[in-house]
Amino acid sequence: MSSEDVTRRLAQVRERVAAACAAAGRGADEVRVLLASKTVDVATVRAALLADAAAREAGSTGAPVLLGENRVQELVAKAPALVDLAPTWHVIGPLQSNKVNAALRWASAVESVADDALARRLSDRVQGRAVPLDVWVQVNVSGEASKHGAHPGTAADLAVRVAALPGLRLAGFMTVGARSDDEGVVRAGFALLRAVRDEVVRSGAPGTGDAHGLSMGMSNDLEVAVAEGATVVRVGTAVFGSRPAPAAVPGA
Ligand SMILES: *Cc1c(COP(=O)(O)O)cnc(C)c1O
Repeated sequence: MSSEDVTRRLAQVRERVAAACAAAGRGADEVRVLLASKTVDVATVRAALLADAAAREAGSTGAPVLLGENRVQELVAKAPALVDLAPTWHVIGPLQSNKVNAALRWASAVESVADDALARRLSDRVQGRAVPLDVWVQVNVSGEASKHGAHPGTAADLAVRVAALPGLRLAGFMTVGARSDDEGVVRAGFALLRAVRDEVVRSGAPGTGDAHGLSMGMSNDLEVAVAEGATVVRVGTAVFGSRPAPAAVPGA
């Protein structure tokens, strides 16, 4: 995809987010755009970052885009080639314990914490850092077997335990919404994530005071997610075009 196309498509996404915020009575700066760069080559990711910087220099408001990678292999392949632009990387896919060190070299947040073991490992690895590592608890709101994430019924308890671990800052909750043409089903999933968030923040448990984030909504459903309170929308195809069909192994 040409850099002109990426520039145009990113602007369209920004407009969609702004319109969705306006429709929901929210400020456009309440929602951050994360670019999901899986399978996208580094030149195209660079073009998106430059387009974003140029748009903001030209006066458009809003925080810089975030970058998200599902696979640590792709993160470690792309991140070194983009250091001059100093993007903020989030891990948004399942993180195997043997890849934690590699991920933490580049990522400033892990959005895909779905069990105690990963949370404890992350906590161990960041001990002694001056700045805590942002973690998000991923919740499988649709219950689809193919999806990573904590069960909605146990996610709040997990989040309270995660929030108490040293070196971590619980920043919020993430979900990959239901894959459904029924907007009501998609909306209910996002509302469920928000309910989990509200329960955890209201608990007042140690470390839960910053857990307001809701990372939800992708290219096809970001408007619904913004209406339900998303603070981060994760966008891939709307900016980068359709991806090659997945080879075989998800979650590597
Ligand atoms: C790929 C991906 C996205 C972006 O999906 P699109 O439908 O291409 O916008 C968002 N979140 C996660 C976790 C992803 O893997």
